[in-house]
Amino acid sequence: MGRAFVYVILGGGVAAGYAALEFTKRGVPHGELCIISEEPVPPYERPALSKGFLLPEEPARLPSFHTCVGANEERLTPKWYKEHGIELVLGTQVKSADIRRKTLITASGETISYKILIIATGARALKLEEFGVKGSDAENVCYLRNLSDATTLVGLMKSCSGGNAVVIGGGYIGMECAASLVINKISVTMVFPEAHCMARLFTPKIANYYEEYYKSKGVNFVKGTVLSSFEIDTDGKVTAVILKDGTHLPADMVVVGIGIRPNTSLFEGQLTLEKGGIKVNGKLQSSNSSVYAVGDVAAFPVKLFGEIRRLEHVDSARKSARHAVAVIMEPVKAGEYDYLPFFYSRVFALSWQFYGDNAGEVIHFGDFSGSTFGAYWVHKGHLVGSFLEGGTKEEYETIAKATRLKPAIEDIAELERRGLGFALAI
Ligand code: FAD
Ligand code: NDP
Repeated sequence: MGRAFVYVILGGGVAAGYAALEFTKRGVPHGELCIISEEPVPPYERPALSKGFLLPEEPARLPSFHTCVGANEERLTPKWYKEHGIELVLGTQVKSADIRRKTLITASGETISYKILIIATGARALKLEEFGVKGSDAENVCYLRNLSDATTLVGLMKSCSGGNAVVIGGGYIGMECAASLVINKISVTMVFPEAHCMARLFTPKIANYYEEYYKSKGVNFVKGTVLSSFEIDTDGKVTAVILKDGTHLPADMVVVGIGIRPNTSLFEGQLTLEKGGIKVNGKLQSSNSSVYAVGDVAAFPVKLFGEIRRLEHVDSARKSARHAVAVIMEPVKAGEYDYLPFFYSRVFALSWQFYGDNAGEVIHFGDFSGSTFGAYWVHKGHLVGSFLEGGTKEEYETIAKATRLKPAIEDIAELERRGLGFALAI
């Protein structure tokens, strides 16, 4: 018993939504495309879950943030999929994949076969248990990866108003959730192992700006340590977080954001993996030519840096998905994927964008006591990365353009002196 499609997208997140839109733009016939997703709703813009969805007033709710509104494109509602003859198999986990036979088997035992498969399974949140700490299942501990997690988080915030939250992790989830918790009138202590927040991207100087801003909003930072255990009451609720150094932090709720792992397990031993993801070439094609991988799960060649990278950001998910569909539908016309890495975040009144690579020497510019500042990264004599806080749309476009051009930098002092003006003059 089973169904057969020409194209199957496995996973129903950001990449799946943008792939579906691209398939329709390229005239996919009705009945040929199927999306299988564990989630009960069609693809949505996942970034909304740590931003608009968590607001106490007029929060974003589906259907408002279905893909592809994040790129100012059409909003793909269940009706849209129906009208375009795309089969949505929702609330359905794929349990096994047979690449040789070109089949997927769902949790209900159905076999779905394909001619072309696009793997868009994204990633899962790392659990504390993977670091030897128990307690993730306590009812007031939450992670944030999907709509269900976000709904749990909203419920917890409502029940904890005026209380204390401990946020574990100083990365994207930690920073964005801490801001939302404060906006929901919850006192926040952030705990993370590094010397400063967003350690993989921010320089100490950039991080200091955000930490001071967060402190001005009442956020307390405990850096350079991790939790060792939870204090749990007889109802199974966490009441305190105990740190490695013995510190005891009272907690009415806990939010954990300690990184992710790409969902590759179905394909281990069947496809080549690299950097924790499914290795693809410049056509986003895996080691099996009928199988493509896009979004968080794909390790692809970043032409600009001559390296295979796996990126965990929405713009990459959107663009890699669209490019894979272009390759599938128009193989001769579609070129090699040539992506400029782009990360961003927006919290409180802050907004930053980063393009390229944070390798090499850092040159800060602008007013770190004001609201607009930035940094360039210069590696092997070329500008390879740019960061800007508080820029205008045009300024962000400018740093993106300058970074893509990788201009030669002969005089670092001159670059520092000119600051944003350097990119604007390119
Ligand atoms: P996902 O969107 O994670 O989708 C994967 C889908 O596959 C899910 O629906 C999942 O249920 C499904 N799936 C997995 N395995 C199976 C299976 N076996 N069977 C069936 N279905 C399966 N990036 C930014 O650049 N800016 C931001 O502001 C930003 N904010 C974010 C906020 C949050 C809360 C989170 C969690 C992420 C955020 N990101 C942000 C990252 C961005 O959302 C991801 O990079 C993007 O969602 C990746 O898209 P994807 O399609 O590869 O994976
Ligand atoms: P990140 O990788 O951004 O950050 C994880 C943080 O947790 C790091 O500070 C990490 O430190 C720390 N950490 C690791 N282990 C522990 C531990 N045992 N105890 C305490 N802290 C620990 O992951 P997130 O979970 O924040 O984000 C998940 C995903 O969501 C990412 O793919 C991210 O890109 C995406 N996302 C993106 C957003 C954006 O682009 N604006 C917004 C929200 C989510 P260390 O570095 O030392 O490992």
